[in-house]
Amino acid sequence: MDRVYNFSAGPSMLPLEVLEKAQKELLNYNGCGSSVLEMSHRSKPFEAIVNNAEATLRRIMHIPDEYAVLFLQGGASLQFSMVPMNLTAQGATTAYAVTGQFAKKAWEEGARWGNAVAVTNGKIDNFAAIPAVTPELIPQDAAYLHITGNNTVYGTAYNTLPDTGSVPLVADWSSAILGKVIDVKKHALIYAGAQKNMGPAGLTVVILRKELLERTLDPIVPTMLQYAIHADKGSMYNTPPCFSIYMAGLVFEWVEKNGGVEAMEQRNAARAAALYKALESCDHFRPLAAKKDRSIMNVTFTLDTPEMTAEFLAMAQGRGLTSLKGYRTVGGCRASLYNGMPDEGVAALIDCICAFEIGKRT
Ligand SMILES: *Cc1c(COP(=O)(O)O)cnc(C)c1O
Repeated sequence: MDRVYNFSAGPSMLPLEVLEKAQKELLNYNGCGSSVLEMSHRSKPFEAIVNNAEATLRRIMHIPDEYAVLFLQGGASLQFSMVPMNLTAQGATTAYAVTGQFAKKAWEEGARWGNAVAVTNGKIDNFAAIPAVTPELIPQDAAYLHITGNNTVYGTAYNTLPDTGSVPLVADWSSAILGKVIDVKKHALIYAGAQKNMGPAGLTVVILRKELLERTLDPIVPTMLQYAIHADKGSMYNTPPCFSIYMAGLVFEWVEKNGGVEAMEQRNAARAAALYKALESCDHFRPLAAKKDRSIMNVTFTLDTPEMTAEFLAMAQGRGLTSLKGYRTVGGCRASLYNGMPDEGVAALIDCICAFEIGKRT
């Protein structure tokens, strides 16, 4: 089988150039006699890999010096717990905008530790839109407001950041980081699992204001879950996910070489707009997300019936367009158009949609 266009929400496609570079370097990295897979994380070559990865990420995201960058494990899901444990005392008030599957999980984990208040809950309209958040909705003694910047499952996103008043903003940007410009300075903390848009699974990136590292933590917080420990040790308190960091570093360089996050956003916005336009011009397809809240990374849509959806998915599969099935609780289809998806893949998907539609009309 040839390489397919994989529209999975994650793990997802990586730029071919990045895979080829990793392949070339796999057996003997940079003439140092061993693979990155085999190398000590305390070795000079690996130290350079981590330092370069961080420096490149800082450049492409314009991360100010007052922010620390951590390379952790445990996925975005572990951040659901680490955020409250590191930013608040047990029982303290925190605020959550519940706009989807992962937002709800973050809120539920937050509620294990403190008084996690759901300031909005998009459940009423099946998470098809992002309810407005205003400072009046947020308890002003909340340690933070947590948002999910891009809702991977429902295909919605914050196309502008909410006004939180004086409450610090914490955001899970797993499925849009590096796919659109994120103003780091407006956040106290950002986190993202790498496997959507940064590299292979196994790495989680956390970007946080350094002043947050100075809090005295509840002694119950395990050492491995303390941001300050990881920051102090340069993300090397224990063995980090070495190969994932190396791969993410290659992706960061690829983003920079291709015009940076600004260029990625332009390209992603244009591709998503073309796909939404095709869906809207068809009688048998319908986008699911409210227009103003549409994500440019995950495009959710459905057809007239589940049978017709299955028929379309089979046709797409036959054309090498894979993993288009929507999340199990949502149904329909979902096309994840991350940075690693070539333009040709999006064009092939639009062709397939048009061909299916014409087939139904005649
Ligand atoms: C995928 C995803 C997660 C879960 O990530 P893991 O790395 O699997 O823990 C959390 N939040 C969002 C927005 C996601 O897209």
